[in-house]
This record gives sequence, structure tokens and C-alpha cells, in this order.
Amino acid sequence: MSYLHWLIAISLAFVLLERLRPWRKGQPLLRPGFLRDLGFLALNGHVLALVTAGVNGWLAAEATGLLQRAGLLLPATPIAGWPLGAQVAAFLVVSDFVQWCVHNLLHRVPWLWSFHKVHHAITTMDFVGNFRFHWMEIVVYKSALWLPLALLGASGEAAFVVAVVGTIWGDLNHANLDLRLGPLGYVLNGPRMHLWHHDQSDEGGAAKNYGIVLSLWDHLFGTAYWPRERSPAALGYPGMQEMPQGLFGELAWPLTRRR
Ligand SMILES: [Zn+2]
Ligand SMILES: [Zn+2]
Repeated sequence: MSYLHWLIAISLAFVLLERLRPWRKGQPLLRPGFLRDLGFLALNGHVLALVTAGVNGWLAAEATGLLQRAGLLLPATPIAGWPLGAQVAAFLVVSDFVQWCVHNLLHRVPWLWSFHKVHHAITTMDFVGNFRFHWMEIVVYKSALWLPLALLGASGEAAFVVAVVGTIWGDLNHANLDLRLGPLGYVLNGPRMHLWHHDQSDEGGAAKNYGIVLSLWDHLFGTAYWPRERSPAALGYPGMQEMPQGLFGELAWPLTRRR
């Protein structure tokens, strides 16, 4: 199955689950902005995912060659000989930590935050929101991933499985599903915790819960905020009225704004 097949199957599964077991009852599928966010899904989930997967694979191969020639590739580091399951686990943990660091930067560096605001303009959460982000985020996230890919020696197959798991978990974090993880919530992220990342108020800090698949990093580094039985009063970011409506308006906004 190609990534596109997975993307379609995962999206259909979430449409079905959100209809059958919605957390917030009465939230319509065709909420305002749904079609615009489908455009983000097609662009970020399919078109740009294909381009960056190719570029990343090429960069990782080039980087491996460079590191080998420079004698910097430690013999104990590569995981290429490990069974697929172990490669997936190792690459998932390392790449998730790298992405947690990048997500911190997206909030803390003003020019990166202007791009990340597109994602934080979400006011109604459902799985499609996972794909509502500016393409610049793909550039920043994915360029941070080719080095660990090269250093670890993870196979293309392992990187593919991690990409599919990342899509499922990203969709889940934004889905209108009430997944109670219990004590596992100290390790894994979920919709209840990520909802607080989209909180418009600064309760518990202006930004919290940067985790993608694992919440472990937030609990370890003190950025976790999760009143388990409550939801934020409003989603978004202060001053979000500045964000234009419409796919192309949102894509152009951070670029034109900087100029
Ligand atoms: Zn964020
Ligand atoms: Zn989000």
C-alpha cells in the first residue's frame, strides 16, 4: 500500500469513528472551513508529503555517504541490521523527540510562529485539522529529520511505517474522539491533551503540550498541562482575527506579512 492509500484509508476510518463515537456531540462533519481544510489535507498530506519523502531519502543517503567518508558514522549507531519492529520503535522515539524540539521552536521563534499560527487558527477540532498547517512547517520538520535518519541508518521501510503511525497519531490528537489513556497518558499523546495545546487562553502557560506521538517529552521537560476532566473555553490564539479565511489567503499570509 502506498502512502496515498494509507492516507485515504486512515481519513475514512476517522470520518466513520467521529460519526459513530463523537466526543463533542452534535459537531457537524461539514463545519465551517471543512472544505478549505480538505484542501490542506490534499496539499500537505499528499502532494508535499511525496516531495519531502523523496528529498529526505536523497538527503539521508547523501548524508550517510558523507559521514562514512569522514569516518563519523559510529559502527554501534546504525540500526539497519535490526528487525523492522525494533527499527520502527527506535526511529519513532528519536524522530518524535526531534519533532518535539522543532514544535518548541515553532512557538518560541517569532518568524516560525507566524507560519505555525495557520495551525493554531483552528477553532473546531476534528481529524482534518491535523493537516491544516503552512507548507513551511513541512520544510522545517522534515529537514530536521534527515540527519537522525542517516545517523541511525533506519531503512526506508521503517521510515515509511513511522510516517504512517505519525499520520494516525496526528489525526487522533485532533479527532473528535474521547480516548482516555489512563496512566498511558504520561507516555502517549491524545485528543484530550492536544486540545489544551490549542487553548486560546494562557492558562497553564501560553504554550503547552508540544508532543506529537509521545507526551513523555512534555512530562519530562515540564511543558505538560492537562486538567484531565476539563476542556479549554475557546480554541485559537489571541489576535487570530488577523488570519485571512481561505486556503490561499492562509498560505500567503505569513509570507506577505513578513515583507
Ligand atoms: Zn503548536
Ligand atoms: Zn494541533
